[in-house]
Amino acid sequence: MTSPLSTADLQAAFRERFGSDPDGVWAAPGRVNLIGEHTDYNEGFVLPFAIGMSARVAVSLRTDRTVRVVSTFGNHGVVSTDLNKLSAADAKGWTKYPLGVVWAFTEAGVDVPGFDLLLDSDVPLGAGLSSSHAIECAVATALNDLCAADLPVERLVLLTQRAENFFVGAPTGIMDQSASLRGREGAAVFLDCRDQHAELVPLALAENGLAILVIDTKVSHSHSTGGYASRRASCELGAEVMGVKALRDLTLDDLAEAAGLLDEETFRRVRHVVTEDARVLDTVETLRDKGPADIGALLDASHASMRDDFEISCAELDLAVETARGAGAIGARMTGGGFGGAAIALIPVEQEAPVRAAVADAFRAAGYKEPDIFTVTPAEGARRVI
Ligand code: ADP
Ligand code: MG
Repeated sequence: MTSPLSTADLQAAFRERFGSDPDGVWAAPGRVNLIGEHTDYNEGFVLPFAIGMSARVAVSLRTDRTVRVVSTFGNHGVVSTDLNKLSAADAKGWTKYPLGVVWAFTEAGVDVPGFDLLLDSDVPLGAGLSSSHAIECAVATALNDLCAADLPVERLVLLTQRAENFFVGAPTGIMDQSASLRGREGAAVFLDCRDQHAELVPLALAENGLAILVIDTKVSHSHSTGGYASRRASCELGAEVMGVKALRDLTLDDLAEAAGLLDEETFRRVRHVVTEDARVLDTVETLRDKGPADIGALLDASHASMRDDFEISCAELDLAVETARGAGAIGARMTGGGFGGAAIALIPVEQEAPVRAAVADAFRAAGYKEPDIFTVTPAEGARRVI
């Protein structure tokens, strides 16, 4: 993991690259999903929170319809793009993310005159913490200010989704950018993916002597893209057969009927989504009524459902979850799309060292890659830093 540049160092790096001071610095965090997996595209509920790791961009407007971007990550150098020739096919590598946001803003009628941008991010790439949305949300927040577009958060959510779906080419929902844009310190974002209704739910982890540990397995199984597409297809089939717009419209009471109408595999996919939506609602209620120490069983049930019904876990994730639980976690589950990536464990703070050691040992014994293990805290969402 890289450590972030201070704001002063970020400004200095910008000056070094572009020869003048930036107009400002904006930040947007990565996110962890506490519970609610594969429910977003079924128009259901999710409960992510923004984390302390963030993408920060130093930006200055230009007036010549040129965009120049550079990242402190890797050795890619400054990439310059003529906005009159902006095309997804020509955008290379990571520049798709900032340019996708420019494309979506332009398409929405916001005049982007051009800009210079330097990115520094400490959100680990590809670990399921949504480093890509952190970039997009930081850029969107900066352009919203600099171009005086004054778009509300609901619009920014949809514009960054368009950028990912149609410019980057990733069929993602609205969870990640909603967490990054709406997150608040100490709270999770309870989001209805049908209408973007959002409520902040206090997590009160530290107050209860708890912490959330992320275990990044650092594996990404090759069937993840095909697996994601086939899960989406099963959900669409399930909704169609059940005669509803989206699986969100089914409740636990509908499952008996679904079992009779759907083939066995589609039924299990549907059961995951329907029970997962119910678990999100239960988690929100439990957090509000009792506090975070009582949500462990819901996290565990979510993992079992993803492993057995939705079949998106893998041996590394199962080992991470089981080992964490065996070493004192209150609850644990894989998080993110599945087939690799990260698991989260809710732990009493004093169990952090034993859980870390147990997971590291178990991975070594199984001959797996060494996992990255770190704690995350619910943090403030996208904002102007200076
Ligand atoms: P995730 O969003 O889960 O981390 P993605 O594959 O969606 O994974 O996004 C990762 C991509 O985001 C990287 O391949 C890279 O193109 C881009 N990216 C993330 N962080 C940076 C960074 N600091 N500098 C440049 N590109 C980055
Ligand atoms: Mg991503």
